[in-house]
Amino acid sequence: MSVGMSGSSSNFFTVRNARLPTTTTSPSLVDVTCDPSTGLIASITSSSSSPNTSPSPSDLDASGSIVIPPLCHPHLHLDKCFLLDRCAMVDGGFAEAMSLTSSAKALFTTEDLLQRGHRLVKESIAHGVLTLRAHVEVDTTVGLICLEAGVELKRFYTDVCDIQIAVFAQDPIFSRSPTERDQMLRLLGEAAGMEGVDCVGSAPYVDRGHEGENIEFIVELARRNGLMLDFHIDYDINPDTPSNIPSILTHLLDIPPEERPHTTLGHATKLSAYPASDLASLVHTIATHALPVHFVALPTSDTYILGQTLHAPEIVAAGFGVCLGVNNVQNPFTPMGCADPMSLLPFCVNLWQSATSSRAELLMEMLSTRAVRAIGRGPGSGDEVGMGLREYFTVGREASFVVLHGVESLVEGACAAPGGERSVVRKGNIVGRRRVEMWVRV
Ligand SMILES: [Zn+2]
Repeated sequence: MSVGMSGSSSNFFTVRNARLPTTTTSPSLVDVTCDPSTGLIASITSSSSSPNTSPSPSDLDASGSIVIPPLCHPHLHLDKCFLLDRCAMVDGGFAEAMSLTSSAKALFTTEDLLQRGHRLVKESIAHGVLTLRAHVEVDTTVGLICLEAGVELKRFYTDVCDIQIAVFAQDPIFSRSPTERDQMLRLLGEAAGMEGVDCVGSAPYVDRGHEGENIEFIVELARRNGLMLDFHIDYDINPDTPSNIPSILTHLLDIPPEERPHTTLGHATKLSAYPASDLASLVHTIATHALPVHFVALPTSDTYILGQTLHAPEIVAAGFGVCLGVNNVQNPFTPMGCADPMSLLPFCVNLWQSATSSRAELLMEMLSTRAVRAIGRGPGSGDEVGMGLREYFTVGREASFVVLHGVESLVEGACAAPGGERSVVRKGNIVGRRRVEMWVRV
């Protein structure tokens, strides 16, 4: 195999002896040559037939390891990560998580937010994350400081990681005193107009009795400011209470197609309790009107709080756009976990009882190509080109990918312990490395 683009090769950077992501363990290795001047893949050639027999010192030897598209956090709480040392959990439930986190938020400072935020973003990049959507809370407790810190982090990492900022109303907007409600409306309005903000969202289920008003206000806020939408939605598994998803779809249908905000729905655990006929009806509505709606399953978080999560593979099979997110990292909502999206995979293999090669491929897509699409990056809605791992490595495409050192197949990548060695390439340059040292005295 030898395909390539013409151009000067003097500054090219090559990842040698790499294994492309296929469902079988491919015996053939390839050299992926990147052109940092264009940021694109210049050639993909068989390692055994590579004409360049004297590798450049700057080249990277993958030694048979698999390469995958960059990872993505489609749903990550940047401001309330790493809080375990300041939250004394007693019962571990959702109400306690809200209460403890609210108390911790009251003591947030800009310096503290930046310190924890840098740690989360740096660890994410070193694990291979080049795109992430950061939810930052705006409410009467924190005002705008979480948002301001998020925007500062977005600017700091702009050449390395595409950070989207999602203004998030975790607290109720309408089911509170008139004074607090007015404060929330003013703060959210101000936040949505700030430079650096990409998205706005809320958690309508906390606005008990006012879910409809909450959704209507947030949709209108997004439309007015040209922002994307991201709701924490249907965070229960009770089939007897109404879903809020139809309400969101109705609002989207009221907006002219060219103005409809790209919409991401997180949690959506109630979908798992839907009868197949209701799911089919929902898919039909989204597909018929080409609504830009995607779902993010948050398996570790949901299972910790609810004991159940959206069955993402089944929902994909039903026709929805679905991906996987870490959600929280080490706080009362999700005490366990880390910045590595791949840390979700062994859990998902266990939960959904499958480690087939096709399942491993789907899981890896839900952390990469499907995840970026769910947050409005990558190919447009309805465009299946570039969705899969197999089509990703193409000459002329952006030279951004991750080398999973020591991993030779997607199944191994899905099942192996997370946190392995990685090299992270963005636009033809290495932007992150993760090394694990181990020694044993015998
Ligand atoms: Zn969340």
